[in-house]
Amino acid sequence: MSDNDGKKTLGLRGGPRSGNVKQSFSHGRTKNVVVETKRKRVVVPKPGAAQSAAGSAATTAMSLAGSKRPAGISDAEMERRLKALQAAKAREGEEAAQREAEEKARAEERDRMRAEKEAKEREQREAEERARQKAEDEERKAREAAEAAKQAAAGPSEAPAARQPAGGGGGGGAKPSQAAPRKVDREREDRGRRKGDDSERRSGKLTLNQALGGEGGRQKSMAAMKRKQERARQKAMGGNQPREKVVRAVQLPEAITVAELANRMAERVGDVVKALMNNGIMATQNQTIDADTAELMIEEFGHRVTRVSASDVEDVIKEVSDKPEDLKPRPPVITIMGHVDHGKTSLLDAIRDANVTSGEAGGITQHIGAYQVTTKDGAVLSFLDTPGHAAFTSMRSRGAQVTDIVVLVVAADDAVMPQTIEAIAHAKAAKVPMIVAINKVDKPSANPTKVRTDLLQHEVVVEQMSGDVQDVEVSAHTGQGLPELLEAIALQAEILELKANPDRAAQGAVIEAQLDVGRGPVATVLIQNGTLRQGDIFVVGEQYGKVRALINDKGERVKEAGPSVPVEVLGLNGTPEAGDVLNVTETEAQAREIAEYRANVAKEKRAALGAATTLEQLMKKAKDDESVSELPVLVKADVQGSAEAIVQALEKVGNDEVRVRVLHSGVGAITETDIGLAEASGCPVIGFNVRANASARNTANQKGVEIRYYSVIYDLVDDVKAAASGLLSNEIKETFIGYATIKDVFKVSNVGKVAGCLVTEGVARRSAGVRLLRDNVVIHEGTLKTLKRFKDEVSEVQSGQECGMAFENYEDVRQGDVIEIFERQEVERTLA
Ligand code: GDP
Repeated sequence: MSDNDGKKTLGLRGGPRSGNVKQSFSHGRTKNVVVETKRKRVVVPKPGAAQSAAGSAATTAMSLAGSKRPAGISDAEMERRLKALQAAKAREGEEAAQREAEEKARAEERDRMRAEKEAKEREQREAEERARQKAEDEERKAREAAEAAKQAAAGPSEAPAARQPAGGGGGGGAKPSQAAPRKVDREREDRGRRKGDDSERRSGKLTLNQALGGEGGRQKSMAAMKRKQERARQKAMGGNQPREKVVRAVQLPEAITVAELANRMAERVGDVVKALMNNGIMATQNQTIDADTAELMIEEFGHRVTRVSASDVEDVIKEVSDKPEDLKPRPPVITIMGHVDHGKTSLLDAIRDANVTSGEAGGITQHIGAYQVTTKDGAVLSFLDTPGHAAFTSMRSRGAQVTDIVVLVVAADDAVMPQTIEAIAHAKAAKVPMIVAINKVDKPSANPTKVRTDLLQHEVVVEQMSGDVQDVEVSAHTGQGLPELLEAIALQAEILELKANPDRAAQGAVIEAQLDVGRGPVATVLIQNGTLRQGDIFVVGEQYGKVRALINDKGERVKEAGPSVPVEVLGLNGTPEAGDVLNVTETEAQAREIAEYRANVAKEKRAALGAATTLEQLMKKAKDDESVSELPVLVKADVQGSAEAIVQALEKVGNDEVRVRVLHSGVGAITETDIGLAEASGCPVIGFNVRANASARNTANQKGVEIRYYSVIYDLVDDVKAAASGLLSNEIKETFIGYATIKDVFKVSNVGKVAGCLVTEGVARRSAGVRLLRDNVVIHEGTLKTLKRFKDEVSEVQSGQECGMAFENYEDVRQGDVIEIFERQEVERTLA
């Protein structure tokens, strides 16, 4: 305790003066006690003043005791006064003792309170310290775990990836470098220093600073402490410091928008944009970045990357099986099939008109590709309005089996015709039950029985022939038998027990789609499961969107469409194709991702199959398709002379029907531009003594563009000629088995020049043919004289290994040249 405290706590409240009294105790200890005195008490009265007041008596007595007796006072009076003086003295001593005791008690109380306060503060500090310690421990553990995981994933040699600097990346570039460990060190130091402060405080030792700064200094550092603690608390509460945050496993598709990436990392978009910028990538939040860039970002933010293979994006719409109790009956979907002119369209119109005019006032019909009717008994039936087999099969080939029941229309005045048979085959293949509608019974020439017997030959046994296929005689013109037909369909539907779960994300099939001038892309979707609602986000085939509006078959806007209901869907980003499946997804990002993935797959498929870019396919196409009269080719040669010679030779090839046209010829290596041109024109690339560079090779592989290499003009022209006439002889097929780069050239006595090589691709084989390429141009072709690994002659050297090679009868090898190793085999040509 200090005097200062005492002084301060007592203060000068109420006006009394205070002073210090040093108390000495018997056991040698001393103590400073503050004593309060009232000014009044020390006033010296003027001689001869009135002495009535008891308070002033003492002082008067004191002055009397030490001085001569005042004049005019008797002995008795003197004695009385002395007595009074003594009494007053005694009283004053009592009072002083009492004051002292009070003072002491007060001081003790102060001490006690101060001690209590200090204890409380210490406790609080200790608790905070413990909490911080704990948080730091946990965080360190988390960080170590994350780092270990990252290192395990990145390989042991990889330097620890940098973290996003504190304060949302404002700290500048966060390149994976040594900056990270340094940063962590600094943080540790900071923390250490903080801890030092605390322990000093706790120990209760007086530092020089505290001693000099006194109370003010102490208060100041207290506030600083509090601020520090507050900062620490805020950090812990969810600041942006990477060291406090959760390490997330971020699912990373092939391409991702910046915003979505930020979302998946649970980081602020701005921070991600900033971090990208620090890496030299200017991207807005809606821009798509590739997986590699995204991976860099994810690591930079200290998260873990989970690469999802492209096809995984479809997983979000994988079938969820419904619980039986969730399934509710749904209307059947009916397709009308049959031979041309047997009355499919007429029948569809008749059914619709009959039901629309009777049911709806006004009866404005809207052809959206499907419609629903309600039978007299109240059964709802959904008819696909697109008759014909093409629609049915194209839907099926796209995996959308929409139809539950096929109505096979056979004209009673005709018979079973080729397309009737086809329809039967389709229905059977799809395992869809059939109902036979024998149409045009109003016609005099109608012979329904003939139809029934005809059908027997095709294993369709109708009820009238004691089979189980329902048959109804109808007339689209007179409307005869239509109610019976609908009844038969309703009955069949009942047998099928068709059910769906209306309470789930919608899935449907596109029946029709077109680009509407006013409304944009519009698709009629038949909902198969779940309920599609306005505002739903969906993917459909290679397109995606958000339901802007739903329009039913009566042209009315509806809010939702349940199972078996056909609706026009507005709000697509592009026009899907009939048969495409619509799936509702949770987020637009998911929908977009799936659509993009599908578009890519489709593109690759087209590149692989459709583009007839190989010479053989082209020739075959030319033969099959009479309209193709030109065979485009692209020629690249080593020198201008050979390029010209090839072009001349090729232009002479051909007959009246087929001509070879050289789209482009040039000198030098085959580049990506050449491949691009070849792809766009659907033609192969012919390389004469030149090779495609690496990127061109990759692109060609991806796009399915054929590159053919030749070293002899005769061979080249012969091949094209043979292909043009469709008589390709057995081909000497070359396979590249390896590439090696010349690192150095040595002169070895008895051998000559030996190239020190690194096999970069495939294998180098002693027995194989070799070509020497300089800047992708073939400058020599021949065989090897020697293939050495260290000192030994070997037959093969694998990729990644070094070897020595020398050419037979050729010496002009240079550093940087590439050796192409190839093998030849004769392949029988087959033109399917
Ligand atoms: P689709 O090619 O199968 O769609 O057949 P359509 O519906 O176009 O009909 C072909 C022709 O048969 C048309 O001229 C119709 O008028 C006629 N037609 C269709 N149904 C009937 C019918 O029930 N009775 C008569 N008499 N003619 C019909």
